[in-house]
Amino acid sequence: MQHVDSYLAQHREAHLEELKEFLRFPSISALSAHKEDMVRTAQWLAAALERAGLENARILPTAGHPAVYAEWLHAPGAPTALVYGHYDVQPVDPLHLWETPPFEPSIRDGKIYARGAVDDKGQVFAQVKAVEALLRTEGRLPVNLKFLIEGEEEIGSRHLPELLEQHRDLLRADVVVISDTSFFAPDVPAVTVGLRGLVALELTLRGPRRDLHSGVYGGAVQNPLHALVQLLASLRSPDGRILVEGFYDKVRPLSPEEREAWARLPFDPEAFREEVGAPALFGEAGYTPLEQVWARPTLEINGLWGGFTGEGTKTVLPAEAHAKITCRLVPDQDPDEIYERVEAQLRKNLPPGVTLEVRKEKGKGRPVLTPVDHPAVRAAFDALRETYGKEPVPIRSGGSIPIVESFATILGLPAVLMGFGLPNENEHAPNEHWDLAQFDGATRTLARYWHKLAAALGPGARG
Ligand SMILES: [Zn+2]
Repeated sequence: MQHVDSYLAQHREAHLEELKEFLRFPSISALSAHKEDMVRTAQWLAAALERAGLENARILPTAGHPAVYAEWLHAPGAPTALVYGHYDVQPVDPLHLWETPPFEPSIRDGKIYARGAVDDKGQVFAQVKAVEALLRTEGRLPVNLKFLIEGEEEIGSRHLPELLEQHRDLLRADVVVISDTSFFAPDVPAVTVGLRGLVALELTLRGPRRDLHSGVYGGAVQNPLHALVQLLASLRSPDGRILVEGFYDKVRPLSPEEREAWARLPFDPEAFREEVGAPALFGEAGYTPLEQVWARPTLEINGLWGGFTGEGTKTVLPAEAHAKITCRLVPDQDPDEIYERVEAQLRKNLPPGVTLEVRKEKGKGRPVLTPVDHPAVRAAFDALRETYGKEPVPIRSGGSIPIVESFATILGLPAVLMGFGLPNENEHAPNEHWDLAQFDGATRTLARYWHKLAAALGPGARG
């Protein structure tokens, strides 16, 4: 690995210049004005993959923005990994809060500032340069690699499932490797092994046929807003436990090992409280904040509306009341089953004098957990340990990455989420940046990873 490391060190300046080129493309997938920029970015990336030594680079069109594919398949008998990432970025407003323009990359204090620096162009670029370093110094890769870099991640990967279906054979692999997450803290390398799922619903309570005068009718007719708050309050106990019957039935309990590993993480609840700016932390009793966010499900009211909310007073007894609810799910909860259980509970607890309509909203996803002892995850730990000289931590994320579920359900691939961001690098916000020491660590770790993966999943290992 000495050769790889010195190759990366020698070419660092050139690589950073190339990264800046990549970052200069305003590849904002959400804005139709950038449709042509998306194509140009994809073309640039395809060329960059070929320059690095990958082959058969091509644009895979979708009904939206295109994806980019490239491969290196000269390691017969060795495992095949699919490297997934995205070249699209979030919009940049509010623009005036950027210290330097979002598409004019600027290096300050060892960090590169630009939209996409860490999410995810920079990390995709590190994947490309790790391959280049291996090919230039060793002449070959220890594994077969396929790159799939899409252009719609920031708009929900709308066409990715279709793309995976369509190119099932082309994308066949043993594992998908994704660098689009972060370390737990500087110097605390991490592999994300769990993601929460999601189910969303909207409910409407209806009372009288029309809004009523509260003087003429109030007191004799159920007020849908009152019924709504009573109904919603019945879903959660004062100590934060969700009271939907069977809600926790399939929740996989945390292992003592995981709890111990998380308890050792440098996590300060008071700093966390300070960061969110709440007067106190609140969560399900018996769990630490990390456990609450990573490994426990939630039921959250996201919005409530109805009646009169304008200036002054209106003595109205509203005809309707509405709420939006989402549940974050953990393994092995099933989004459809949880939806049914929540709906059943709402019907059971419904106060008199109103009717209830419940609608399932878009955006559901299954929770994902890659076993910590999966060989591809263990290989990631080995690579990180070798690069950083520190024991990496298996962490989870409270959020959802729907693509991970698509790779699992459509292609049957376990996911290794080995990301190299740092917390608070302003992803999706002004002054997004990436620590260049993380870039260096990423390229060196990823080059090592392909060797570790070959050993972990290779023919000998499968034996
Ligand atoms: Zn991302």
